[in-house]
Amino acid sequence: MNILLLGSGGREHALAWKITASPLVERLFCAPGNAGIAQEAECVALDITDHRAVIAFCREKHVDLVVVGPEAPLVAGIVDDLEAAGLKAFGPSRTAAQLEGSKGFTKDLCRAHNIPTAAYERFTAAEPAKAYVRARGAPLVVKADGLAAGKGVVVAATVAEAEAAIDMICGESQLGSELVVEEFLTGEEASFFVLSDGETALPLATAQDHKRVLDGDQGPNTGGMGAYSPAPVMTPQMTARALDEIVRPTIRAMKQMGAPYRGVLYAGLMITAEGPKLIEYNVRFGDPECQVLMLRLMSDLVPALVATHDGMLRTFDLRWYDDVALTVVMAAKGYPGAYQKGSLIEGLDEAAQVDGVEIFHAGTRADGGRVLANGGRVLNVSALGKTVGDAQARAYRAIERIRWPDGFCRRDIGWQAVKREQEKA
Ligand code: AMP
Repeated sequence: MNILLLGSGGREHALAWKITASPLVERLFCAPGNAGIAQEAECVALDITDHRAVIAFCREKHVDLVVVGPEAPLVAGIVDDLEAAGLKAFGPSRTAAQLEGSKGFTKDLCRAHNIPTAAYERFTAAEPAKAYVRARGAPLVVKADGLAAGKGVVVAATVAEAEAAIDMICGESQLGSELVVEEFLTGEEASFFVLSDGETALPLATAQDHKRVLDGDQGPNTGGMGAYSPAPVMTPQMTARALDEIVRPTIRAMKQMGAPYRGVLYAGLMITAEGPKLIEYNVRFGDPECQVLMLRLMSDLVPALVATHDGMLRTFDLRWYDDVALTVVMAAKGYPGAYQKGSLIEGLDEAAQVDGVEIFHAGTRADGGRVLANGGRVLNVSALGKTVGDAQARAYRAIERIRWPDGFCRRDIGWQAVKREQEKA
């Protein structure tokens, strides 16, 4: 098969690494890719917002399957356009991608199908939203309806903070003026990934991530500073509940609506005292969660992608390593605020020699034989181990070998899980 992968981050590097390991693959292209992906795939300078150009490329190169990494092209309907052109694409249609593209859509679906989630109201103007906030009292969570690259959610501890968040969302034209105000849930967060072919959900694995930029889960939110899989809180019983109470009813509802969900569905869950509740859906693999999932996946990924597309998951199965996988994000100093691009990164080959370690590139650029930083999140130093502590030690051993004065990382990725392991021992 010839496969075209769309995207340029650590998620796509991990997918490329796993896809090229498949004996089914003849050529793997990636648009636009990065310096790490270039070691696995033929990177092509295609503008992926130009669906016609993507279609023309697929025809020219006899691409059998397009795998879409990020959410923006999905929400923009690239899968619909590719399918209409007679091409196969892995990922949900534009309508099905509403599960991530509109928080209000997902909340209404939960309400209509009794799917456990935070109580909420939708608003299209600031004043009624503020009146609701005053009536409910804090804490509350204020969310912009549409895609906001992680900037559209404010957990407000006071009514004043919630009102300020409403003004911020309504004032930023690119966030639109649709918003959701919802109940603040307490518990432990976990991510649960499934493949769905429109009818059948095939559970993949669970993960937990660290969104805050500083050690101890302090400081501003980021796209994710590290992750590990599996999530200890997702016991077999909790996973079964998440599947039965949240994921399967969603897949049934999407089918009933005439928008069957095909692709990977990522449920962001809060494990509350009453059980799992949905915080949000994402319609793609998480980044950096994908990196730890791909390390743990023993089976060939490509047949699973094809079976998802073809509606054949009912008879499909995947095998996983029991090992824990953990990834540490190395970011450019200043991230998630302003940062410089172009600094030199050295020592990657020595770092990759640490047993069990795999380094995925999130934002790099090749310059001759050199690797330069080219984004906020730049590297995902990932490792497999028998325990979280073991995987964590390996990842940090590799990081010690990386010479990048302009980069930084958190030093405590996986700390809750390591603490759990120490308490058990
Ligand atoms: P989201 O973009 O919806 O995943 O929200 C980003 C983060 O905000 C989540 O990972 C949670 O940490 C937090 N969050 C969102 N909704 C809630 C909620 N209803 N209760 C508590 N925390 C929330």
